[in-house]
Amino acid sequence: MRLSQFHLATVKEVPADAEIASHRLMLRAGMIRKLASGLYTWTPLGLRVLRKVENVVREEMNRAGAIELLMPAVQPKELWEETGRWEKFGGQLLKIRDRKDQEFCFGPTHEEVITDFARNELKSYKQLPVNFYQIQTKFRDEIRPRFGVMRAREFLMKDAYSFHLSPESLGDTYGAMYQAYSRIFERLGLSFRAVQADTGAIGGNASHEFQVLADSGEDAIAFSDDSDYAANIEKAEALAPAIQRPAPQAPLKRVDTPRQKTIAEVSAFLGVSPQQCIKTLLLRGREGLVALCLRGDHELNEVKAGKLAELADEPVLATEEEILAATGTRPGFIGPVGLPETIPVIVDRSAAVLADFVCGGNADGTHYTGANWERDARTTRVDDIRQVVEGDPSPDGHGTLRLARGIEVGHIFQLGQKYAQALGATVLDDQGKAQVMLMGCYGIGVSRIVAAAIEQSHDEAGIIWPETMSPWRVAVCVINPKNLPDVRDAAENLYRKLEERGIETVLDDRGLRPGQMFADLELIGVPHRVVVSERGLAAGTLEYRRRSESENRAITEDELFTL
Ligand code: ATP
Ligand code: MG
Ligand code: MG
Ligand code: MG
Repeated sequence: MRLSQFHLATVKEVPADAEIASHRLMLRAGMIRKLASGLYTWTPLGLRVLRKVENVVREEMNRAGAIELLMPAVQPKELWEETGRWEKFGGQLLKIRDRKDQEFCFGPTHEEVITDFARNELKSYKQLPVNFYQIQTKFRDEIRPRFGVMRAREFLMKDAYSFHLSPESLGDTYGAMYQAYSRIFERLGLSFRAVQADTGAIGGNASHEFQVLADSGEDAIAFSDDSDYAANIEKAEALAPAIQRPAPQAPLKRVDTPRQKTIAEVSAFLGVSPQQCIKTLLLRGREGLVALCLRGDHELNEVKAGKLAELADEPVLATEEEILAATGTRPGFIGPVGLPETIPVIVDRSAAVLADFVCGGNADGTHYTGANWERDARTTRVDDIRQVVEGDPSPDGHGTLRLARGIEVGHIFQLGQKYAQALGATVLDDQGKAQVMLMGCYGIGVSRIVAAAIEQSHDEAGIIWPETMSPWRVAVCVINPKNLPDVRDAAENLYRKLEERGIETVLDDRGLRPGQMFADLELIGVPHRVVVSERGLAAGTLEYRRRSESENRAITEDELFTL
């Protein structure tokens, strides 16, 4: 690729909401452009990297015997009603209508569609086991899209679904996927851990997440260096009771605060409907503004948790006991101090309170300050439990536990019969009897991996790509191509030779000053850079710099070809 004929558009300034390195660097390098919240265009540069990841994933899925297909992004409501998820999935499900007023969703995942496919396609046990996958765009209306493509609303996922007659067969494919995932992340040069994850509401036997180790990760994992024990924090909590010790609670102080607002008062104050009001409050709760609960004699009592579930993204309302334990008072309203009108927000576990919140009952003078929850449960909890857990014996008895933050880049799951049962996906067994199939599902966040790799590998100058992910392997820089035809011809020549050898090369023939040219190439992270200059031509060498090193050295063409 000649850079003069490519669309490279690096930028100096990035918006303040780009909080983490990968988000900033992807914007600065011009890999992505924001269209709207959680929606990004992948520029030609960004797409080169995304395709690299996609190809590694595809190669390893094929190697593991999975078969590629492609399912629609838009999915009919009726299918989701068969599994009950039209209602249950929550606010992440983007619901849309066509011109005939038929309802659809933009798929956040594809269990329904693949199981429908399977119930039509698979008739006999002889067709099993089979593992279908696709690499496809998902949409999840994330409550808080952030960190660029790391937590986007539209993102690229590889999702695979396997079908079986027996748990043993499911176990085998699960194991093969575990191996394939390990190979994928190794090939992509990521430092990662496979951790046990909770199977939660879905049930089933096994689930593992693949977590890239990075301080900016939203997840936390506990692991032992002396054994294979590794679990995400939710799972580790269940296994290691020590982790469940509650965070220390600051003493509560009684304050003389007037009765706080009812939902009717708040909705009048904000000028929006009560429904909209509750929705807003829920959102703000997610953002850490926190908290009210459904108790006492105000009108919110009428809003039952079930109703709230329709409005919120998997709301987990705190129970009365939890509120009591955390605040020392029976739940009424809890609201942040300092707002002119205290705005009630629903308590949920992922958005519990920091210090200095008022809590209390519905009568004047029954409020307290100092209610001390956590703002971002995952984040704060890691620090709280670090002291408690680190150094504790590993639950498997080998070595001691350590804690780290992680970015979830993959997730594999033994689903069992949940979806096949709901959708009636059966095959005939060798006795001619209809049997409900067992399923596994296996996801990889293809676009998230790009950001995760940058989190793991960058410096002040920019991205440092692992070789397998880089947009190009080698950059050939031409100094002053306009005025020095010999230099230009030599660079063109070298560029051609590299390409002939199958080494993906970018020729920087834009005629920029060396400083500008190098800054761009360092920012976009090309692993190997050579400079063709008058001086080098005379000496028969190239000035070479590895992106991960800080010194130049002179090398010959042949040395370059064998890098
Ligand atoms: P998270 O816990 O980060 O919300 P998840 O557990 O909801 O992720 P899965 O349903 O397991 O995600 O989906 C499979 C993979 O898709 C995840 O492991 C992750 O890599 C990726 N993924 C999920 N949500 C997003 C998102 N909003 N943006 C980018 N990638 C995502
Ligand atoms: Mg999620
Ligand atoms: Mg997750
Ligand atoms: Mg997951």
